[in-house]
Amino acid sequence: MYRDYLWSPERMKWVTGMARPSGCVFCKIARNDPRVPKKVIYRDNLVMVIMNIFPYNVGHVEVVPISHVEWPEQLTDEEFTHFCSMIKKTINLLRKTLSPPGFNTGINLGKVSGQSVPHLHFHIVPRYASEAGFMDAIAGTKVMPETLDQTYKRIMKHADMLKK
Ligand SMILES: [Zn+2]
Repeated sequence: MYRDYLWSPERMKWVTGMARPSGCVFCKIARNDPRVPKKVIYRDNLVMVIMNIFPYNVGHVEVVPISHVEWPEQLTDEEFTHFCSMIKKTINLLRKTLSPPGFNTGINLGKVSGQSVPHLHFHIVPRYASEAGFMDAIAGTKVMPETLDQTYKRIMKHADMLKK
């Protein structure tokens, strides 16, 4: 029998998932915070697929688990399996809608890797044969041939592919 207890009712908010770190932009997008600009391509209860608002290239998207975790091993097997499945489907969606001949993809883990938000996310950056232009080489400036809205509309025409 325990005789003493250390009561910690605040902990219950964490246990029940009500409290999330207030500064995390992905958690804000996941709960549809109206103050955060966002372009959500797909969302279910485990994963969302969003446009990067500051893209490295046309069609730069991120596949993000809904759970606020920093490391892959913190996901449940179900979450991780679904996360991987959505990565595959999202690459397929971008191939269908934007026809890039290649991609850069990956995850930055830990601050030293360049991870900007400590909430696991997988980058998918389409690459195009004709993209290396004068401005890229000379000025270090990325020339974006269309707006984020235009790219988003092109992707959303076939976003149902992610539901299958
Ligand atoms: Zn988060």
